Amino acid sequence: MVPRVRVDLKKLESNAHTLREHLLRCGIEVASVTKVFGADPKIVEAIHRGGIRFFADSRWQNLQRIDPAMGKRLLLRIPMLSEVEMVAKYADMSLQSEWRVLQALDEAMAAQSKTHEVLLMIDLGDLREGFFDEEDLFATAEKLLRSKHLRWVGTGTNLTCYGGVLPTRENLDRLVRTTRKLEEHFRISLPWIAAGNSSSLYLTESGKKEEWNFLRIGEAIVVGTEAAFGQPYLGLHRDCFVLETEVVESKRKPSVPIGEIGKNAFGETPVFEDEGEQLRLIVAIGRQDVDPLDLEPLNPRMRILGASSDHMILDGTHLEESDAQVGSRVLFNMNYRAILRTFTSSYIDRVYL
Ligand SMILES: *Cc1c(COP(=O)(O)O)cnc(C)c1O
Repeated sequence: MVPRVRVDLKKLESNAHTLREHLLRCGIEVASVTKVFGADPKIVEAIHRGGIRFFADSRWQNLQRIDPAMGKRLLLRIPMLSEVEMVAKYADMSLQSEWRVLQALDEAMAAQSKTHEVLLMIDLGDLREGFFDEEDLFATAEKLLRSKHLRWVGTGTNLTCYGGVLPTRENLDRLVRTTRKLEEHFRISLPWIAAGNSSSLYLTESGKKEEWNFLRIGEAIVVGTEAAFGQPYLGLHRDCFVLETEVVESKRKPSVPIGEIGKNAFGETPVFEDEGEQLRLIVAIGRQDVDPLDLEPLNPRMRILGASSDHMILDGTHLEESDAQVGSRVLFNMNYRAILRTFTSSYIDRVYL
């Protein structure tokens, strides 16, 4: 069914492989972040074929769809107290910052006679999740070490998420120093220092070994860019996901609406430039499914003019006639947000290449 997302599993496998090989040389383990494609099992398998053995998602409902044989399942969003039972059931590992949650999780794991691995989050200044106060961190770590069914396996941080704070040698060095201090204080060794997401990748470009050794990567695998500056990374494929839509109307019309201009369907007052008569195409997709700003037509001779909830309007004036008829397919390159939105819309189908 159209509209649908064309998913290139070979390119995703290749991205996973290229990224993992590169990071391995820097001494860094990588978890594939699956929330952007709702942990679609075919995509998870392709990334597994690329060599990745950690899968991370913000929701246990998505982790539930991942076969444990694919690797370790890591929960990204610090859990609600009310969901610890589900976390205990479907996650092997999680990011944590509150003792009350850890305590409840320990009890839930005891009931299932299993152990769960924990990364304690440290807030380096982006001001989303994580310990900010060192005393709080050390006090929680002490209690965590005494928990029977939780295994403390390291520290982590999250940057460029709320505050837009970039990862740098300086702030990641603070994460490393805090981790070493914890290790010395408790006379333990912590296997993982998880230094963020795709925005930390630019720091690995030199291929040099780092003291931090774990990254959670969504963007780079699915759209081929690092997230600090949005630059192409390692020559990864940029077109693993392509949106396919269908033309439902193709007519010559003026470029400026006729009549007094009030507000559009979204309460905005639009402005128009007169470009004369155009061949205007309507494709059957709208802002309910995806934001047109997150799409780019594959055909450079075509331009998005706008969209309401269920219709997207394109300028097809410069197209070949065969590309501009009712029933013609129109393809779009998608950014990270577009993939996330279309994979959570129940009106958009998927086809695997
Ligand atoms: C979504 C998410 C990521 C992945 O971020 P990308 O920029 O897509 O690599 C990493 N860590 C956490 C905690 C997340 O929620």
